Amino acid sequence: MTSGKQITIEQGPIRPPSEAGSLLFRFTRNCPWNRCAFCPVYKGKQFSRRSLDEIKADIDAASEVLDDLRGLSAQLGCPEGFSREALEVVFTSREYNDFYRRAALWLHGGKGGVFIQDANSFVLPAGVISEAIAHLKRKIPGVRRITSYGRSGTLARMAPAALEQIRKAGLDRVHIGMESGSDLVLKLMDKGVSAKRQVEAGRKVIEAGMELSEYIMPGLGGKELSEEHARQSAMVLNRIDPHFIRLRSLRIPPRAPIYAAWREGRFTPLTDDETVAEIRLFISLLDGISSRVESDHIMNLLEEVEGNLPEKRDEMLATLDRYLAMPENDRLLFRLGRRGGTLRRVAEINDPLIRERLERATRDLASESGADLEKLIKELADQYI
Ligand code: SF4
Repeated sequence: MTSGKQITIEQGPIRPPSEAGSLLFRFTRNCPWNRCAFCPVYKGKQFSRRSLDEIKADIDAASEVLDDLRGLSAQLGCPEGFSREALEVVFTSREYNDFYRRAALWLHGGKGGVFIQDANSFVLPAGVISEAIAHLKRKIPGVRRITSYGRSGTLARMAPAALEQIRKAGLDRVHIGMESGSDLVLKLMDKGVSAKRQVEAGRKVIEAGMELSEYIMPGLGGKELSEEHARQSAMVLNRIDPHFIRLRSLRIPPRAPIYAAWREGRFTPLTDDETVAEIRLFISLLDGISSRVESDHIMNLLEEVEGNLPEKRDEMLATLDRYLAMPENDRLLFRLGRRGGTLRRVAEINDPLIRERLERATRDLASESGADLEKLIKELADQYI
């Protein structure tokens, strides 16, 4: 932390896509498990718990930044809320650092989200988490939702009273990286938890009165276990009935241990089309639950596959079917456009202007000797890893 408008607080590397506008507070550093074969995020980094004093010092510093920003907005004639004019000052003046900018966006956006980092806050004693959250709520007015990542193995071991204590302190939602409900896939990926424990953890979070967001990773079983992965993941989620099911399709960056298995032929990734077919099977098997499905991760090919179950299930399946029924060349154009940021929805492939632009791009690439369209699409998708 430094002084004046350069005050900053420690930030971890990631947060869920749905927490893009949230203030981030780091209660722990890195991941206490750190063995999942598909995950590059904390590899080579040592896990540690931060002390309550350290966490409180960050909260106090953020509170100071927010007060300073509110003062700026008041000076510019907007004492309530945070004006666009004040936002422009913060983003155009070199006086303000990145943390000020994040805090200014938080005030301007007005949603009041806070996300607690890093990978598994629940390794801290319930008393420490609760006291830190209580301090946060005292020091930072306008907080409307507090969420955190948690590992199923840790959550399943916790006493219900401990989870309830944390919920009463103010934690509203837990994001769990379930990834798969198949014991075969979980073992292959060294996830360190069984399907049974995933169900126990999920139910405990819900019974403690918190919202639950479960991440599923389409493609994680590779070709070999694709059907098993889809079927068992749906079965486990049918037993949990989480508030959110979020899709985050597998990509394989070189820093992930699974990369070597892929290069050595021990893991066969799905193609984009096979991933869509796997998601179709998975969604068709979700049954008897009222979760909301979200495809809010940039890794997903079809971000429009989302909606509340059960009423939107047929609509989601229809979208997946529309994509799968397209001629091969249209699917290729769509993938190129989606990964290159030209289009987002399946129907947009029928827009004459977009189509013409994509066809021209593929013609130009084909005329370049050695141009490989599949390689280009992969590179475009991998830029977001
Ligand atoms: S996926 Fe989650 S639990 Fe697994 S290594 Fe990455 S951060 Fe840790």
